[in-house]
Amino acid sequence: MIDFKAEAEYLRGELIARRRDLHRHPELAFEEIRTSGIVAEELNRLGMEVQTGVGKTGVVAMLEGDTGGPTVLYRADMDALPIQEENDNDYKSTLPGKMHACGHDGHVAIALGVAKIMSKYREKMAGRIKFVFQPGEEGAGGALAMIKDGVLDDPEPDVSLGLHLWTPLATGTVGVAEGAVMSGSSIFNIVIRGKGGHAALPYTTIDPVSATGQLISALHTIVGRKMDAMAGAVVLSITGVKTSSHAFNIIPEDVEIRGTFRSFNAYTSEMLEQHIREVAHAVSASVGCEAEVTIRHLTIPVVNDPIVTARLRKAFTRVVDSARLDTNARTMASEDMSYLMDEIPGMFFFVGAANKERGITYGHHHPRFDIDEDSLPLGVALMSAALSDYVIPG
Ligand SMILES: [Zn+2]
Ligand SMILES: [Zn+2]
Repeated sequence: MIDFKAEAEYLRGELIARRRDLHRHPELAFEEIRTSGIVAEELNRLGMEVQTGVGKTGVVAMLEGDTGGPTVLYRADMDALPIQEENDNDYKSTLPGKMHACGHDGHVAIALGVAKIMSKYREKMAGRIKFVFQPGEEGAGGALAMIKDGVLDDPEPDVSLGLHLWTPLATGTVGVAEGAVMSGSSIFNIVIRGKGGHAALPYTTIDPVSATGQLISALHTIVGRKMDAMAGAVVLSITGVKTSSHAFNIIPEDVEIRGTFRSFNAYTSEMLEQHIREVAHAVSASVGCEAEVTIRHLTIPVVNDPIVTARLRKAFTRVVDSARLDTNARTMASEDMSYLMDEIPGMFFFVGAANKERGITYGHHHPRFDIDEDSLPLGVALMSAALSDYVIPG
């Protein structure tokens, strides 16, 4: 049996150097030119058949075994975020306003490490691995762009796998829950229209500001009062309010409220959408205003297939003690890996990347986010063990 822990440990220096290089040069959604160039070059060097420009800046490469068997898709995302990094170390972002604040730099380094190990054992493989390097995960629709460009066709994968480095978990812990593990995410925008006028004569106006005050309270009570508490985790947050006027003495014509809601199942999402529309129209109408509601669903929940999950949990015990497998790790955060997994059953697992002693405790998307680099070889070992469970017999 291949010792994937040792194989990954052997690549430690290379993984850290790669991750730091990518961290210094973050690229936003669909601008991953340098990153995808590095990816394609490395996969070519490993002798794989490489396809670039899939979903604009995505890369797909096939590692074929000598004999037939299942096709396993392994997806890694590549994009950074529009955040100004506040860390001060020698691998901090060199580009103002751009930062790898979600760990996707580590995902690319891990996937290239896995590609290197698995290509070494290509002759033992029965089946194939489809390596998918995805652009624009951060709300930009990268997974759908790749699906549109045929990433799930010819050959169609039998199973889809992915991982996320995860600072809510300590390094060494692996999140392996089954069922819904990340929520679906939707955004809404409500424009409340009234009739503006002089602030000293409010009775001559139809005041959209006072309607907004009432509407914010009403929206916040939907989750607690209109939804069944047993219907699964739901969260609704209002994230901004804006008016057309900046003057102190003018009641504006309209006010815009925006926010997001998340849930673990599609039905709950639909109910929530209906409630938001009803509440917005009813509250606005009660003071003579009109509401224009726009709702956009960004992602669906990430749902881990129970059979794939059980199989991977077992495979992971080749790398970590079963006591380090957290079967309850779920989050209200979202991931567009859900679209690939909606078509192809699979599993998305969390590789703990926090380390209190090293001060690595910041959450994802924080300007001081960082990962404990010990998670890199661990991620490589886990994913290699998972893939080999499907494509290396015995
Ligand atoms: Zn993120
Ligand atoms: Zn992410």
